[in-house]
Amino acid sequence: MGENKKAVDVLNKDDLIVISGAGGFIGGSLARYFHDQGFTRIRAIDKKPLMEWYQRVPGVESLSLDLSERDNCRKAAEGAVEIYNLAADMGGMGFIENYRVECLRSILINTHMLEAAYQAGAERYLFSSSACAYNIELQQDPNVRALKESDAYPAFPERGYGWEKLVSEIFCQEYWAERELKTFIPRFHNVFGPHGTWDGGREKAPAALCRKVIAAVDSGDYQIEIWGDGSQTRSFMYIADCLNGIDQIMHCEELIATPINLGSSELISINDLVSMIEQIAGIELERSYKLDAPRGVAGRNSDNTMIEQILGWEPNIPLREGMRGTYTWIEGQYQDRKAGKKTLS
Ligand code: NAD
Repeated sequence: MGENKKAVDVLNKDDLIVISGAGGFIGGSLARYFHDQGFTRIRAIDKKPLMEWYQRVPGVESLSLDLSERDNCRKAAEGAVEIYNLAADMGGMGFIENYRVECLRSILINTHMLEAAYQAGAERYLFSSSACAYNIELQQDPNVRALKESDAYPAFPERGYGWEKLVSEIFCQEYWAERELKTFIPRFHNVFGPHGTWDGGREKAPAALCRKVIAAVDSGDYQIEIWGDGSQTRSFMYIADCLNGIDQIMHCEELIATPINLGSSELISINDLVSMIEQIAGIELERSYKLDAPRGVAGRNSDNTMIEQILGWEPNIPLREGMRGTYTWIEGQYQDRKAGKKTLS
């Protein structure tokens, strides 16, 4: 196709781009992505103190503000041409199954940010939704049927995190229907890559498994504990595909107020993911299974028919390639932490 528009085609270089959740993984990577393309006015916001941001991009205005408060959202949105809302209280399965109140409270962020975007006269607004918005009854079998956009209804999403995403999607749709704010709603399926959480309880499976393999190599204790029985299946999207997809979706008029999958369709079981990481590390580990650990749904994949049809593109960086880069990056973090240096997790 090749005609898909991106920010560089639509914006002036000095138009203000606002990114919330920019102290985290995807938001921080997005700030760097736009900065590297020569955008000169980027405002990055996160509630974490600046010292704790995963990435601080030179030349980017960086503000530490809690966006669950209305007045802070007004400050954040002032003068914005585009707003990318990547802020949410979230983590891997261990976090979202145990902290449902925190997950639900993220509704405040999107509610206030949307209104602030509307009041500020922003042209476009992106909300980072999730595959957790899908009906969980369709995800009980590891031999999944990939989830297509219409599978969110009848609604029966993951309690907490999933419901918050679904209701926030509706806010976005109604701000377009009633107030003509152009909103965009990618549903991310597991994103991974360098500069993501890799320890501490909020990390997701690819990073957690890399860390465990690295620790086994380091200690010489060649064992690994896997959450669940390892048969659960998922797809994982590399961060570079995620950023590319965000940019294309945000600038596609056909996708206004339309939830759309943004995920890889390369399905893998957790057991096979462990084998892939073992190959990268060049070792084999003895596996044990923690059957009472949070494991999430049995299987989940992204049906990419719609994104293929509309954008003529789907995330396509091979999992193995992304995992190599991620493993190397986490290894560096692991060694830095061991040496007493500052690290991200
Ligand atoms: P992350 O946890 O690394 O980043 C989220 C950031 O939001 C954090 O830095 C956090 O401090 C910030 N935040 C939380 N509450 C805030 C508040 N009240 N005010 C300001 N900032 C606040 O997560 P991520 O992986 O970068 O995810 C970004 C978005 O993408 C989230 O909405 C998440 O739900 C969504 N998503 C991510 C994935 C994934 O696999 N990473 C999958 C589906 C959806």
